Amino acid sequence: MHLRIGNGYDIHRLVPGRPLILGGVRLEHPDGLGLDGHSDADVLVHALMDALLGALSLGDIGLHFPPEDPRWKGADSLVLLEQVVSLVRERGWQVLNLDTVVVAERPKLKPHIAAMRAAIAARLGVEPDQVGVKATTNERLGPTGREEGIACHAVALLHKP
Ligand code: MG
Repeated sequence: MHLRIGNGYDIHRLVPGRPLILGGVRLEHPDGLGLDGHSDADVLVHALMDALLGALSLGDIGLHFPPEDPRWKGADSLVLLEQVVSLVRERGWQVLNLDTVVVAERPKLKPHIAAMRAAIAARLGVEPDQVGVKATTNERLGPTGREEGIACHAVALLHKP
């Protein structure tokens, strides 16, 4: 079996007046903050896309969806994820599994993790048990700890049957 692994990382600023969307799920921040960005700023899905692209050395999301391109303004990141997974499939590769860690002090992500895994799995055409979503705080250290932003790390393992 041929295997490829990729990793991804992203961070977006927390600001007032923006929605907070993680893993395709709309959340409420206790201070009403959301993630700033050109698209919907779904940092979890962005890290995942970079992991998928990285596994096949296809560059990064900035290359495929340039922030200066008006087509991606306010884009639903799950739609971009579908485009990335079709690049993977066109080349004969399949997703074996994905794993992610979201770094956020608030809100509590645990109640929403099942919904995020289901949303991502549906767009990728895989089962939810192939999509790991974990959450950690940064123990109030650094930019994520001070709630200046939310970050996410991701890995993707692909196979070519
Ligand atoms: Mg991003």
